[in-house]
Amino acid sequence: MNEERSGRRIGFFGGSFDPPHMGHLAVARAARAGLGLDTILFTPVGAQPLKPGGATASFEDRAAMTRLAIAGEPGFELSLADAPKPSGAPNYTLDTLISLRAGLAPGGTLFCLMGADAFLGLKDWRGADRIPFVAPLIVASRPGQALEGLEAALPLGLSMESGGSGDAAGSDIEVRVSVLRNAAGDSTPFYLLPGLDVDVSASEIRRQVQAVLGSGQAGAALLPEAVAGYIRSHGLYQ
Ligand code: ATP
Repeated sequence: MNEERSGRRIGFFGGSFDPPHMGHLAVARAARAGLGLDTILFTPVGAQPLKPGGATASFEDRAAMTRLAIAGEPGFELSLADAPKPSGAPNYTLDTLISLRAGLAPGGTLFCLMGADAFLGLKDWRGADRIPFVAPLIVASRPGQALEGLEAALPLGLSMESGGSGDAAGSDIEVRVSVLRNAAGDSTPFYLLPGLDVDVSASEIRRQVQAVLGSGQAGAALLPEAVAGYIRSHGLYQ
């Protein structure tokens, strides 16, 4: 991709991270390399509006595990921008992105990173049609999620025009670029990372926690070792 770049390029990566796993790391690595991002902000969510049952582990545990998962990885940072609100109100991604973008240094760009499953549910998010204009979306493919359906999943009022394909200089990560338009005629880029194929989910890890923790190399392919150690020592997901 040869777009003009000035200022820092920051990727917001929100999620339950309950627990953070190798799928999250793979998505963030691909986005960072494929789009030449300086920083990925791993942002555990306090209260996810569309998961009324909430997370299994506490916010403190999920933030601690996320810190361990990304330790030593260049450009990966833990953000507490979506920490639980004292009122207990849900955390809306649109509000978080607006406030993160307002805090960027001049010339900086904020992106919003998510997996294809999250994108397929985007139209139910508050202010869904505004989100890509606050922070262009980077959507990573995920096993079991057909990429052909993405256009149909766009929030109401948005349309997509296909663009080209490419990768950042020195990276072999494929990035497909399209353009999203709204009814007012505004446009914003939309990035797809079609090469991600990491069959790991937090819910499956929670369901099989004993097996995962006890399975040596197979477990290490699902979870960073430090996260596995934290789950063990804190007795999570039992
Ligand atoms: P759960 O199984 O509990 O729904 P999860 O594994 O999807 O959890 P989240 O913390 O909810 O994990 O996900 C945060 C973000 O990471 C979401 O945008 C999700 O789509 C993305 N993501 C998680 N795992 C993968 C994966 N294996 N491949 C691509 N994207 C992923």
